[in-house]
Amino acid sequence: MKPTNSIYTGLPTTIFETMSRLAIQHGAINLGQGFPDEDGPLDIRQMAAELLIDGPNQYPPMLGLPALREAVAEANRRFYQLDMDPATNILVTSGATEALSDCLNALIEPGDEVILIEPLYDCYLPLAERAGAHVKSVRLVPPGWKLDRAELEAAFSDKTKAILLNNPHNPAGKVFDRAELELIAELVTKHDAYAICDEVYEHILFDDRTHIPLMTLDGMDQRCLRIGSAGKTFSLTGWKVGYISGPAQLLDPVAKAHQFTTFTTPPALQAAVAFGLAKEDTYYRSLAGELQTKRDHLNAGLAAIGFAMIPCAGTYFLTADIAALCRHKQLPIDDVAFCQAMTEQAGVTAVPVSAFYRPGQQSDIPSQFVRFCFSKQIPVLDEAIARLSKWIKG
Ligand code: PMP
Ligand code: GLN
Repeated sequence: MKPTNSIYTGLPTTIFETMSRLAIQHGAINLGQGFPDEDGPLDIRQMAAELLIDGPNQYPPMLGLPALREAVAEANRRFYQLDMDPATNILVTSGATEALSDCLNALIEPGDEVILIEPLYDCYLPLAERAGAHVKSVRLVPPGWKLDRAELEAAFSDKTKAILLNNPHNPAGKVFDRAELELIAELVTKHDAYAICDEVYEHILFDDRTHIPLMTLDGMDQRCLRIGSAGKTFSLTGWKVGYISGPAQLLDPVAKAHQFTTFTTPPALQAAVAFGLAKEDTYYRSLAGELQTKRDHLNAGLAAIGFAMIPCAGTYFLTADIAALCRHKQLPIDDVAFCQAMTEQAGVTAVPVSAFYRPGQQSDIPSQFVRFCFSKQIPVLDEAIARLSKWIKG
């Protein structure tokens, strides 16, 4: 029989699903896959529930409900002083994942080069390759996760169609500073390229940092597609409501990719997210503030039992270096085996960071880092720390 597609055939199940299944199997506390253990605002959920009964329940407009497109445009203005026309600059998608797929499918011609930054969020590589891209990668190295000018310059060429930038960055917890963003903008302009900006954690920055969309830098408003997700902003990851902001000439082909991928997104959820986006500043402050408390709590707990913690400036993920612990427990330094053993023996699940690198081609993928999700209630984090402490001492 003829072979099925070579990119998807044999591709492993995502690490998030794999680790969540393992956590369920072993009754472990799941600090692996990134999702909060408390649902987002009740009023948003109540509104969606009422609309599911009262309607609308038929196809909404393909670009998204006007109310949500207006709310996304307004949020761009309110948070970043970006001027967006809801009619031509905003597209609603079924989550950021669909948005990423649409953007890549709309921009890429077979053979175009796309730059990805490692560690990379898991869907980037197969989606880019399936769109026909030749992927070039640059690497951020912990603990600083600094973007290296020479490395980035070397990755760009006249064939570069786009760079995919995740800021704040999952799994690194890194927030790109203005100098790094200026470097990206300079190279995008120089090589006449585009930037697909995955900004799903745009409202989850800590220690008084503010999010700077690449799109706000000089000339970038014509070259950036900026992606957000209600899943992260409202702690409703199962809803899969995403949105793209971008210049009309770029968004037009992206909308055509969307039209034949999902076409639309459930209207009740869209209307409720539109309502949510208009929430007062205190909502956004408390989202980041509560997560900062949780970050500090888990960070201190893990550090006290021997994990070497790497600073986290945004997202809800902490990365820990396990090298010293592995030596202490006389285990090989192998993040995959460590996460498996930790789930089975300690009853706590995390994600191996090696899963965020391009597989196969490189022998130097780091194997000493694991990622913990801290968007959980404090007693849950405490129980995880207690279990890990017992496991490490035992
Ligand atoms: N990008 C990043 C960096 C993510 O962490 C996630 C996970 N939520 C997504 C995209 C996908 O978002 P969504 O669930 O809205 O598809
Ligand atoms: N974004 C989530 C994470 O990084 C996972 C989302 C998913 O499972 N697709 O853990």
